[in-house]
Amino acid sequence: MKLPVDALVAALTHPSFYLSGDENGGVGICCRDHFDGGRPLAYYGDTYPDPKVPTVSTIPSLWAHAVDHLARAHG
Ligand SMILES: [Zn+2]
Repeated sequence: MKLPVDALVAALTHPSFYLSGDENGGVGICCRDHFDGGRPLAYYGDTYPDPKVPTVSTIPSLWAHAVDHLARAHG
Protein backbone atom coordinates (compact mmCIF):
# COMPACT_ATOMS: atom_id res chain seq x y z
CA MET A 1 0.00 0.00 0.00
CA LYS A 2 1.43 3.33 -1.04
CA LEU A 3 -0.43 6.47 -0.09
CA PRO A 4 0.53 10.05 -0.84
CA VAL A 5 1.38 11.65 2.50
CA ASP A 6 -0.70 14.76 1.83
CA ALA A 7 -3.77 12.66 1.01
CA LEU A 8 -3.26 10.52 4.10
CA VAL A 9 -2.94 13.54 6.39
CA ALA A 10 -6.04 15.07 4.79
CA ALA A 11 -8.01 11.92 5.60
CA LEU A 12 -6.59 11.54 9.11
CA THR A 13 -7.51 15.11 10.01
CA HIS A 14 -10.83 15.31 8.16
CA PRO A 15 -13.64 15.98 10.67
CA SER A 16 -16.13 13.75 8.84
CA PHE A 17 -14.33 10.46 9.44
CA TYR A 18 -14.72 8.43 12.59
CA LEU A 19 -13.95 4.91 13.73
CA SER A 20 -16.63 2.68 15.14
CA GLY A 21 -15.79 -0.47 17.09
CA ASP A 22 -18.10 -3.40 17.71
CA GLU A 23 -18.37 -6.17 20.28
CA ASN A 24 -16.47 -8.60 18.03
CA GLY A 25 -13.33 -6.48 18.06
CA GLY A 26 -13.97 -5.18 14.58
CA VAL A 27 -13.58 -1.54 13.59
CA GLY A 28 -15.35 0.29 10.83
CA ILE A 29 -14.37 3.62 9.34
CA CYS A 30 -17.35 5.83 8.66
CA CYS A 31 -18.10 9.17 7.03
CA ARG A 32 -20.57 11.51 8.71
CA ASP A 33 -21.41 13.12 5.37
CA HIS A 34 -22.23 9.85 3.63
CA PHE A 35 -24.36 7.77 5.96
CA ASP A 36 -25.10 5.14 3.26
CA GLY A 37 -27.53 3.22 5.41
CA GLY A 38 -25.06 3.15 8.28
CA ARG A 39 -22.49 1.16 6.32
CA PRO A 40 -18.85 1.89 7.09
CA LEU A 41 -16.54 2.70 4.17
CA ALA A 42 -14.48 -0.35 5.14
CA TYR A 43 -14.31 -2.75 8.03
CA TYR A 44 -11.38 -4.26 9.91
CA GLY A 45 -12.18 -7.69 11.34
CA ASP A 46 -14.08 -10.75 10.28
CA THR A 47 -16.27 -10.46 7.22
CA TYR A 48 -18.83 -7.69 7.54
CA PRO A 49 -22.41 -8.96 7.19
CA ASP A 50 -23.06 -6.58 4.29
CA PRO A 51 -21.09 -7.64 1.17
CA LYS A 52 -21.01 -4.02 -0.04
CA VAL A 53 -18.54 -3.24 2.73
CA PRO A 54 -14.95 -4.22 1.98
CA THR A 55 -13.16 -6.08 4.76
CA VAL A 56 -9.52 -5.20 5.40
CA SER A 57 -6.84 -6.90 7.47
CA THR A 58 -4.99 -3.85 8.78
CA ILE A 59 -5.94 -0.53 10.35
CA PRO A 60 -3.87 1.43 7.79
CA SER A 61 -6.05 -0.17 5.11
CA LEU A 62 -9.06 1.47 6.72
CA TRP A 63 -7.38 4.81 6.17
CA ALA A 64 -6.55 3.88 2.58
CA HIS A 65 -10.29 3.54 2.03
CA ALA A 66 -10.84 6.92 3.67
CA VAL A 67 -8.26 8.49 1.35
CA ASP A 68 -10.01 6.95 -1.63
CA HIS A 69 -13.43 8.06 -0.38
CA LEU A 70 -12.21 11.60 0.19
CA ALA A 71 -10.99 11.82 -3.41
CA ARG A 72 -14.13 10.25 -4.91
CA ALA A 73 -16.95 11.63 -2.79
CA HIS A 74 -15.65 14.93 -1.44
CA GLY A 75 -14.06 16.29 -4.58
ZN1 LIG B 1 -17.96 11.17 2.73
